[in-house]
Amino acid sequence: MKLTDVEVLVIGGGVIGLSIARSLLLKNKNVVVLEKENNVFLGNSSRNSGVIHAGIYYHPSSLKAKLCVLGKQKIYRYLKKNKINYSKCGKLIVASSNKQIKLLHKLKENASQNGVDTKLVNANQSSLLEPNLKCYGALLSDSTGIVDQNEFALSLQNDIESLGGNIILKSEFTSADFKEDHIEFVLNNDVNQKYKANIIINAAGIWSGKISKKINGLDKSIIPNIKLIKGNYYKLKKKKPFNKLIYPIPDKYGLGIHSTINMYNETIFGPDTEIIKKFDFNVTPNLEEKFLKSIRTYTDYVKVENLHADYCGVREKTMNDDFVITKTKKKHTSIINLFGIDSPGLTASLAIGDYVKNMINSN
Ligand SMILES: Cc1cc2nc3c(=O)[nH]c(=O)nc-3n(C[C@H](O)[C@H](O)[C@H](O)COP(=O)(O)OP(=O)(O)OC[C@H]3O[C@@H](n4cnc5c(N)ncnc54)[C@H](O)[C@@H]3O)c2cc1C
Repeated sequence: MKLTDVEVLVIGGGVIGLSIARSLLLKNKNVVVLEKENNVFLGNSSRNSGVIHAGIYYHPSSLKAKLCVLGKQKIYRYLKKNKINYSKCGKLIVASSNKQIKLLHKLKENASQNGVDTKLVNANQSSLLEPNLKCYGALLSDSTGIVDQNEFALSLQNDIESLGGNIILKSEFTSADFKEDHIEFVLNNDVNQKYKANIIINAAGIWSGKISKKINGLDKSIIPNIKLIKGNYYKLKKKKPFNKLIYPIPDKYGLGIHSTINMYNETIFGPDTEIIKKFDFNVTPNLEEKFLKSIRTYTDYVKVENLHADYCGVREKTMNDDFVITKTKKKHTSIINLFGIDSPGLTASLAIGDYVKNMINSN
């Protein structure tokens, strides 16, 4: 396969780029995925809670709500069919004061507008479900789950390769010229070579704004303002306290420091919310006391010495807290940009793949 023959170039080997590539390959498109690192899934796709979200929080008219609910159905079907490890363990969003109970009612109403079933449970019912939990009441979601992300990544990668697609690693997209009959692009490892594509899909996660700025002929007003929000995770070095995922009431920039379980039966707390100007993937040290303060609102099971810094990710929030997916078309070429694909991007990934495939086919 010569890179000069590309019909569709997907920039980014995260869960979004791979899902889009898979959807397009299933429609017989000729697709190349470009990834700057020496493997796929090294960006935020492996730096999250690994939760399959139900679709409780997002505004009913948002893309997040639509693609999360659809994506949840698609991902569960996909995981089952491909025998990938997952668990539909369920989740409790907990009220840690009487005042917060009305917020649970609001969340329940929002979930129901998104077509998502949830159930309010009182404090006694909550502690029957989770004896280590303390709360004034909770919202139970049975359709929330967790997935082994490495297995999911491998499976998407296998799909792409078996459908005839190419994933090119250690190749960074640096710039492009958006013309009417083709798009010329340049890679960092061969700056003198100009490659050609008909369609470019910018699925580079938190780097997608930077990439759009490097495309001559693309209207830069489509690039939304974003806030970068780092989220650290701390692992519990103790037997797991909960069988379900435990979430506090969400705050302005995140879902709160929650308790999740991974497929190795370990309990992870996080992510916190730290607004940053320049991103890095180093866990902020010495956050044990801060984490403990949040965790104490829903359990007394954890002590500060049980918490160990683990990993972190960086979300990108658009001003209206929604995914932004745009298409810019010239005569025979188009560019699709994906911005603000933070949570629930993992859950929504397969639905985003189909959404972008349909955008390509439409005018
Ligand atoms: C802290 C945190 C918690 C989250 N929790 C959840 C959750 O529980 N459930 C859920 O559904 N979602 C969750 N999400 C959201 C989810 O992780 C993201 O929506 C998803 O990973 C975004 O995938 P992506 O492919 O767009 O980005 P990424 O995985 O970051 O992939 C982008 C890729 O593009 C590559 N790239 C960048 N620039 C270039 C270039 N110039 N040339 C070539 N390649 C390039 C990068 O190396 C990277 O591999 C969370 C996110 C964060 C940060």
